[in-house]
Amino acid sequence: MISIKHVNKTFGMNQVLTDVTLEVPKSNVVAIIGPSGAGKSTLIRTINALEPIDNGEIVVDGISIHDKKVNINKARSEIGFVFQSFNLYPFLTALQNVTLAPINVKGLSKSAAEERGKELLTSLGLGDKFDAYPNRLSGGQQQRVAIARALAMDPQVMLFDEPTSALDPEMVTEVLDAIRKLAESGMTMVVVTHEMGFAKEICDEIIFMADGKVVEQATPAKFFTNPDSERAQNFLSKVL
Ligand code: ADP
Ligand code: MG
Repeated sequence: MISIKHVNKTFGMNQVLTDVTLEVPKSNVVAIIGPSGAGKSTLIRTINALEPIDNGEIVVDGISIHDKKVNINKARSEIGFVFQSFNLYPFLTALQNVTLAPINVKGLSKSAAEERGKELLTSLGLGDKFDAYPNRLSGGQQQRVAIARALAMDPQVMLFDEPTSALDPEMVTEVLDAIRKLAESGMTMVVVTHEMGFAKEICDEIIFMADGKVVEQATPAKFFTNPDSERAQNFLSKVL
């Protein structure tokens, strides 16, 4: 479903991604972990072309994302993205946040978009928050609205960049539970996370990055008990 081949990226003199190659089969969940500055956010942002790449290729559901001939807005509607900072539109209600893109980008009727939006919000435990504005919602609730907003476009894949890092500790579980449910539903996902227990539990594969490179790629069982690289051993000794 996602194929990343020999991707390089620089910011000025700074080589941020070096020959990154990885494959995410349909319905698989991959966690990207690694120290700060490793290039995790940059990598996940290249998957929906929020960041351009210098060379290499990224294909999502058969679409070569960085091909100049590709309609990027159409390609992006296949890819849901959830950020650390929820990025909801502050002047729209929860439901309006969720229905905006389906109406404007997908051309859904308002009633169809609202029906689907209410269904999604309800499934995420926000059945009583349709009309709430973001500043009336907790961080965990806002992040769940952001997840509903991404799902409302019926994406083929979901990308999460540290979805719980900006949350107060008591709200982490409700967001991880929502992501876990999505994983169980068969959604193909890439999750940048510092939640090691979560990564271990829901992921098919762990990608460990450092200095812009994929240093290690392994099953959670292997990675968390017996990582090959010294970099990963060091990292785990600090975070576990
Ligand atoms: P991570 O998410 O693993 O912490 P990032 O992908 O955010 O790492 O950053 C990787 C490197 O790229 C860092 O050295 C960072 O300073 C640099 N970087 C990230 N975004 C930009 C940008 N927009 N302009 C210049 N440098 C950037
Ligand atoms: Mg980051």
